[in-house]
Amino acid sequence: MPHTLTAISKEEKAGLQKAYRRLMRTIKSPLDEVDRRNIRAAYEMGLEAHQWQRRKSGEPYFYHPIEVARICVDEIGLGPTAIICALLHDVVEDTEVTIEEVRDKFGNKIAKIVDGLTKLDGLYNVESPQAENFKKVISTLVEDVRVVLIKMADRLHNLRTIDVMPRHKQLKIAGETDFIYAPLAHRLGLYNIKTEFQDIIFKIQEPETYEDLSQKVRASKRERDKYIREFIKPLKKNLDELGFNYKISGRPKSLSSIQNKIRNKQVSFEEIYDLFAIRIVLDVPLEAEKQACWQVYSVITEIHKPIPERLKDWVSTPKSNGYESLHTTVIGPKGRFVEVQIRTERMDEIAERGFAAHWKYKEVKSQQHVYENWLDSIRDMLEDNHNDALEFISDFKTNLFNKEVYVYTPNGDLKILPKGATALDFAFSIHSDIGYHATAIKVNNKLVPMGHILQNGDQVSVTTNKSQKPNESWLKMVVTGKARSKIRSSMKEEKRKKGEFGKESLQRKMKNLKLDFEENVDGLVKHLGYQSRPDLFYAIANDELDLAILKTIDVEDHKFVFKKKTPPQQESQNGSEAAARERKKKKRQQTKEAQILINGEPADDFRFQLASCCNPVYGDDIFAYVSNSGLKIHRTTCPNATHMMANYGYRMMKAEWNKKTTSNFVVELKITGVDDGPGVIERVTNKISSGLGINIRSFSIAGDEGFFEGKVSLMVLNKDQMNLAINTLKKLQGISNVVRVN
Ligand code: MN
Repeated sequence: MPHTLTAISKEEKAGLQKAYRRLMRTIKSPLDEVDRRNIRAAYEMGLEAHQWQRRKSGEPYFYHPIEVARICVDEIGLGPTAIICALLHDVVEDTEVTIEEVRDKFGNKIAKIVDGLTKLDGLYNVESPQAENFKKVISTLVEDVRVVLIKMADRLHNLRTIDVMPRHKQLKIAGETDFIYAPLAHRLGLYNIKTEFQDIIFKIQEPETYEDLSQKVRASKRERDKYIREFIKPLKKNLDELGFNYKISGRPKSLSSIQNKIRNKQVSFEEIYDLFAIRIVLDVPLEAEKQACWQVYSVITEIHKPIPERLKDWVSTPKSNGYESLHTTVIGPKGRFVEVQIRTERMDEIAERGFAAHWKYKEVKSQQHVYENWLDSIRDMLEDNHNDALEFISDFKTNLFNKEVYVYTPNGDLKILPKGATALDFAFSIHSDIGYHATAIKVNNKLVPMGHILQNGDQVSVTTNKSQKPNESWLKMVVTGKARSKIRSSMKEEKRKKGEFGKESLQRKMKNLKLDFEENVDGLVKHLGYQSRPDLFYAIANDELDLAILKTIDVEDHKFVFKKKTPPQQESQNGSEAAARERKKKKRQQTKEAQILINGEPADDFRFQLASCCNPVYGDDIFAYVSNSGLKIHRTTCPNATHMMANYGYRMMKAEWNKKTTSNFVVELKITGVDDGPGVIERVTNKISSGLGINIRSFSIAGDEGFFEGKVSLMVLNKDQMNLAINTLKKLQGISNVVRVN
């Protein structure tokens, strides 16, 4: 946190006071005297504690907590407790104030939340401090969801003001947000916040594409508005006749979702018609909701022909995050596809505010148990006690953010499982004992393998036998965290039992060598490369490790003496000053111009490699990453980047191209088109090598019934040359699309 020695001035204090009053005005629900006093006290405490701090932009730091509190009230719909915690969310982490002081002043509940919002300290020895912190955030989620909601507000404000940050920090924050906060916002039903997250991530990761796209969306606005008016007009007439109270609007889709479509479907901007959705929000009493939504549906589909496969009925069965709405896609004027969303005011509030609104409507049947199952499954995963936070996070992600399937028990009870869940997952979802002892599983009355993937509407029944127990191969047949953690802990128990034999043999052997067991065993675990004592014992019991190896280790004074191995990387980092000077000298002597600057310093070719997963070319946005095998240069849009930035942000370094580089880069293009004879290959090669003077490394093509797909690998000097190749090829006869592939 940037400290300066100038405390905030009188004027600045007045500005903060103004921001505080604005915050108080946004609170719509009535406050009692105690709340009012506590909010004021939190304001005073935060103001005093942060008075020496400034944000990167230069403004007093305390603007940030005030704004986070405002987002909590205004955009998430939280109450006084959250406001107090938001105002205090950075005091323990960044100032002298301790958690005990917060507890003394505001009580246990507030202190607990503030503690949850404070980053873990002293995480420098773990593999991924970021993952440990995520894990902490998620652990607090099951105790008080407000921790995560305030965290969302915190993240949102940091992203809204990210422009002043250096680029590599922006990338790190974007990566983290993409990896966990955006999916979490989605899971909590905070759709607006999720969308804003994704748009800012897009803007950071691909600034040029973002600008280009927003320019195109702006340019087509007038035409779009006209189309929306045309589409809505006949609808309004018929809805008015029904006598409904409603709002209707055409809402543009977000830039990030448009960009996703362009990328995933490999189409151009001009080919995307559904840049907007029509939303109809009805004001009807609770008991009339369902009927009203379907009435409106029938009004729409009488005017515009619907596409039946696109009907989504989350009114009868809400999404597992509580989302309720009826979506249909119809064919509008000029044959364009238009999505129409039908919902009530209540459903709309849940859609906009997610979890916070969910509490308000807890009495409504469709909103009951919405989060309970989810929170239960998180608790299961936490109980599993992974040593490894990274593994926990990856389990958490695959299990809880995925799409879902709806399946039924023989009694007709609905079970919601993540998409891709298997018959065995189902067994564990009913009860862990049913999972442990599952011997045969039937889907729709037919016997299936345990790893059978379930489909929507399947009815599943499980036969059990007490003598059955999980084995290693079961882990490959499940995808849910609950099943996996139960299988793992059952196997861990088995392993521990078996490991007892290994432990005994080791103890005997060490006794023979006159070595104290307790004093030497942990060193041995480390020396032989095992994760833990049980792992070592198990390997011995399983004959994977021959105890003869002990004879090869030196013993001095009844103790093992392990020779230290120094990894080469470590050496270059901690090397002596003289060695560093020598290296610098060498660098200067190099005649070849450095291709890349890392943290502003020219980097010679021995120090880094261009990552083969994304093949960066000169001109791409890039960053450097310290991997186990040295420095790698990746594109900021690399498919692996999100994971790296989110979990190993501390290994990232700023990288940029040296203006003088003259190297060649490999780039792969995918070409699709209509096959109109053997001329295509010739035309493509001709255009590239003779026309543009670019070397082709390889070219493969496959055709099928008048359609072909080819891959061409080129050597280009820079991004401009690559774009030139793409645009030239696109114009060739018979070619419909050309895209860069990773
Ligand atoms: Mn903060």
